[in-house]
Amino acid sequence: MSAVIVVGSQWGDEGKGKVIDFFSAQADFVVRYQGGANAGHTIVVDGKKTVLHLVPSGILHPKTKCIIANGVVLDVNSFAEEVRALKLTGYLKDSTQLMVSDAVSVILPYHRQLDQAREKALGADKIGTTGRGIGPAYEERAGRKAILFGDIFDDERLKEKLQSTLQEKNFLLEKFYGEKPIEIDEIIRNIKVLREELKPFRTADTSLVIHQALKAGKKVLFEGAQGTLLDLFHGTYPFVTSSSTIAGSACIGSGVGPCEIDKVIGITKAYATRVGEGPFPTELFNQTGDLLQHKGNEFGATTGRKRRCGWLDLVALRYAIRINGITHLAMMKLDVLSGMDEVGVCVAYELNGEVIREMPTSYALLSKVKPVIKMLSGWTDELEKITDIKDLPMNSRRYMDFINAETGLPIDMISVGPGREQTLWAKPLFS
Ligand code: GDP
Repeated sequence: MSAVIVVGSQWGDEGKGKVIDFFSAQADFVVRYQGGANAGHTIVVDGKKTVLHLVPSGILHPKTKCIIANGVVLDVNSFAEEVRALKLTGYLKDSTQLMVSDAVSVILPYHRQLDQAREKALGADKIGTTGRGIGPAYEERAGRKAILFGDIFDDERLKEKLQSTLQEKNFLLEKFYGEKPIEIDEIIRNIKVLREELKPFRTADTSLVIHQALKAGKKVLFEGAQGTLLDLFHGTYPFVTSSSTIAGSACIGSGVGPCEIDKVIGITKAYATRVGEGPFPTELFNQTGDLLQHKGNEFGATTGRKRRCGWLDLVALRYAIRINGITHLAMMKLDVLSGMDEVGVCVAYELNGEVIREMPTSYALLSKVKPVIKMLSGWTDELEKITDIKDLPMNSRRYMDFINAETGLPIDMISVGPGREQTLWAKPLFS
């Protein structure tokens, strides 16, 4: 077994950073294949926190090579900043540890400008994007106007492509949004300052690197960003991100055939959160919701926004299992549920007086469903210091047994705190 995909099975922020950091010690390569600096993966090692937005979460293990593959949109300024911060804290000593595909689309300041102008113009109907230019960059890619990572090292090609794309962007910015136009020379100046810093990571074809690695029996971990329910095609459209976040996207974004994949791990929190707008059937608007928010420290790693909180939604989780082909679950933040008399789990929805067990994919219908909540007995003991699964309170084990029975999937990892060591029952990833 050598290729494993790790995806978020909810609305993102499930704790993918911790899971990928944890398993990276067992991997030869970690690959980011979609999304951009809108991801915010938090890793805590020996009490020290590192937040990664673009660089794969395997980077804290010096022997693990990290790849940013074609499907990612790379903000060159954020990327350079992240690389500097990693080097300052003693990581990434060898730049060959990190590879960026020449075919990655780059995000330049004008993508952010457009993103923010659009959200402003939408007013109350805003999507709640991170404003980091991700949407405009993917649109540009589909419109066949994207500036690729390889282009930024070629003066002539860069200028030509920028001229072509900026004509349209400036029209939009000035005439539609009433904003200032973009100066091409300023963008080129900015890129030239960064170029030397970025060059060591340049890789012509990362799909070939991955292919050769798999052929040689190396272990490759594909790191998903955001979450299943934010998927562009299968999420709660239009309140979704602008890339495909499901497991199939790992193949598309990194150029690997589907038959190469051996295992798909779905990460789920023991409860649910959502940041930004959009339907969220199990959202709690009461003290319990506030408690989850505070105890779980549910603030976005990228935007600092408060996350909305609610009970675990098994209808949504079963949907995620189906569309990703999830084979194993990782259960995060079980510790946050400690101290509650009862813990709720959504087992079905009620829609127009009828009980349904499948998630409606239309936004209009999903906004109308009412969760059918089953209350299970809670537990009082705090879990952060538990090191052996056998010491978990009986009711927390019953809670997981219930999820296991409802989903039919094994729970391969249980996390009871942000630290690497606060991990119980982690089975070897590549077995
Ligand atoms: P990601 O985007 O999926 O990587 O998720 P984030 O990093 O945005 O959010 C997860 C947050 O939960 C981070 O602050 C982690 O350090 C923290 N975290 C991860 N696992 C656990 C856990 O089991 N318990 C607690 N209390 N915090 C955790």
